[in-house]
Amino acid sequence: MGTYLIKNVDVCVADSIYIKGEKALVAQNDIDENTVLFMFQGEATDKRTRTSIQVSADKHVEPGDFGAYTNHSCSPNAQIVAEYDEKNNIAQIVLMTIKPIKKGEEVTFDYATTESTVTEDLHNKKCLCHSSNCRGVITGFNDLPLKDKMELFTKGLAASYLQIEEHE
Ligand SMILES: [Zn+2]
Repeated sequence: MGTYLIKNVDVCVADSIYIKGEKALVAQNDIDENTVLFMFQGEATDKRTRTSIQVSADKHVEPGDFGAYTNHSCSPNAQIVAEYDEKNNIAQIVLMTIKPIKKGEEVTFDYATTESTVTEDLHNKKCLCHSSNCRGVITGFNDLPLKDKMELFTKGLAASYLQIEEHE
């Protein structure tokens, strides 16, 4: 359970452009770079789901009936910034644009920037983001090639709890 502290009226849940039969967050107007699309506060749990967002090494937040429709892209136009308050087990997640978004475009973020792994039903599923640098499949951060991990860190896009080194 949780609450939206901010819900930008310029985005709404509508039919996905990329994934037939699925919903997405879609821009209803042109939106500037660095705009908050939603801010959600909720209790963290140990459970990863298809729609949950990872907020620490082992905690996840279910973003409710809005943020849950943010789809993945390998070349996203938005980014999740999460803060986890361990003492109260509460997390705040913010979806911010990282480039200008045109009216009618789908809002996306790169799942590999927040999730160390993804759920079984998403893992290695064909990615439909259609970007020129598409990785081909959806994975969490841990399953990215090293050069992609380095790139996400260099650009400041990877969440702080993600680890480049693999411990085997
Ligand atoms: Zn892709």
